[in-house]
Amino acid sequence: MRYWFDTEFHDDGHTVELISIGIVAEDGREYYAVSAEYDSNHATDWLKQNVIQQLGDVQMKSRRLIRQELDTFFRQGGTPEFWADCGEYDWIVLRQLFGTLTDWPEGWPYLAMDIEQWRLQLGAPAFPLQDRGLHNALDDARNAQARWQWLLAYVKANPAC
Ligand SMILES: [Mg+2]
Repeated sequence: MRYWFDTEFHDDGHTVELISIGIVAEDGREYYAVSAEYDSNHATDWLKQNVIQQLGDVQMKSRRLIRQELDTFFRQGGTPEFWADCGEYDWIVLRQLFGTLTDWPEGWPYLAMDIEQWRLQLGAPAFPLQDRGLHNALDDARNAQARWQWLLAYVKANPAC
């Protein structure tokens, strides 16, 4: 089962801290959560303007609860395959929800596939612009799925690439 995911996070050059996470599954299921453990009083001005204001009116959850819910979410539909768009930090944030490197559930992949890498390998075709929700994690996850689908259509239309 493919999953497209995105996170919003606080990065200070030493740690990457979860603020919110959004996921879209290949079968149409969606997940969104905001961490109760992030203190938005510490947010940078950029985060306040671009992320905190767009978190939505949802009940915040502990990282432990998010992990439990994700574990259930990802176990529906067989082995997960994770996709993100320029997702190197997002991947760390997702992995750290499950603990240390070796706490990762057995049988799950040790890499996230990256949409941007696929786009570059195809000759860097230009994506359509994202029309909504930039920096809301669920909207960004939906956009990642849309970009993946766009690339798949591009491959089919350009079989030589
Ligand atoms: Mg985002």
